[in-house]
Amino acid sequence: MVDVYLLKAKEGDCLFVRYGNENEMHNILIDGGCAECGHTVERIIKQCDNNNEKIDLVVVTHVDEDHIGGLITGFASVNEEILKRSIQRIAFNTSRGFLQHNKLNGKIRKTEEAVKVIVCEGDGCSIGDAKSLCDIINEKGLKCKLEDYIVSGTEMIIGNAKLTILSPDEQSLSAFMNKWEEENNCESAGGCSNEFPEEIYKDLTALKKEKYPGADASLSNRASIAFLFEYEDVKILFLGDAAAPIYTKELKKYMKNEKISIDVVKMSHHGSSRSISKRFLDSIDAEVFMVSSNGTTLKGQHTVPGKIAIAKLLNRRNKVILLNNYCWWKYAYQNQYFTINDIREYFDTKLLELYKISDNPYMVKEGLNIYGEFKPKKIIS
Ligand SMILES: [Zn+2]
Repeated sequence: MVDVYLLKAKEGDCLFVRYGNENEMHNILIDGGCAECGHTVERIIKQCDNNNEKIDLVVVTHVDEDHIGGLITGFASVNEEILKRSIQRIAFNTSRGFLQHNKLNGKIRKTEEAVKVIVCEGDGCSIGDAKSLCDIINEKGLKCKLEDYIVSGTEMIIGNAKLTILSPDEQSLSAFMNKWEEENNCESAGGCSNEFPEEIYKDLTALKKEKYPGADASLSNRASIAFLFEYEDVKILFLGDAAAPIYTKELKKYMKNEKISIDVVKMSHHGSSRSISKRFLDSIDAEVFMVSSNGTTLKGQHTVPGKIAIAKLLNRRNKVILLNNYCWWKYAYQNQYFTINDIREYFDTKLLELYKISDNPYMVKEGLNIYGEFKPKKIIS
């Protein structure tokens, strides 16, 4: 059986995957959400330890605050012995791993020391947070668990599950490690307006015909880890904030251009329209998609989830089910996200179903459940 927890992570991602059988359970934690979500990370680690289970792998998809903030605060609040006992492996691309792998000390502009001492200012700053996470990993004696060069084409076997890394590719990781300082702390171009974008006032049917916006050019997102998780007959895509051209290319290579049936897709970059592509949607068969978003970006922009992305999912699909950790359409978008025509054409007909998931799971199929909350079992002493 496989249980996936799409946890509340504010603007970010925090997913927890449990799989196995009564005799042996395995656990993978993917990101920790924003700094305020550290208590979730803490609870997961302590609960696993109480159950005498390990966290087989922690995946740090990339360095943005909405993904690593909760890992920093969560790790900080768990004592070293429990952390060392519990966490088995950490997949996190660092400058050290990059340099070591490539032996490029003379070739790239920044040395490891230079990368580590530069601290950016401002909210959502990637590199300062990456340094904090490296510091915590060192302080808590977890450095020997760190696997710090993870690129596409790699396979990891974690407790009978196979993880096929789809992103980043070597070039994107290299571009990030070389040029991140130019990106500084600006997530992407396009200003910081918190107005609703034009597209939400358009009908889904009209948006189906619109062009896909250009692919996400953010260097940190392009360096995000994305992977295919396969365990028994379950296949899930965990796409982090990765860029569609990168993860799609690797997926197609892996599948030798055959279409692949996916049980659930964790949409890239909180469902952004810039992080999905026609080529990707043509290469998979999927009905269920997870969106980790409270409806805004770290900068307060209302660009996630993208309405063009949702319209594109509906193209050529009989039915689309969106599983969400927040009711973003109600609160962030004040119930204005979907038009009257959308409701009539897609919701009344059940072509599009939207669920806010909770501790009551959504069953994708026998043996695969998606939860929105991780509720530790009471320990009876
Ligand atoms: Zn993100």
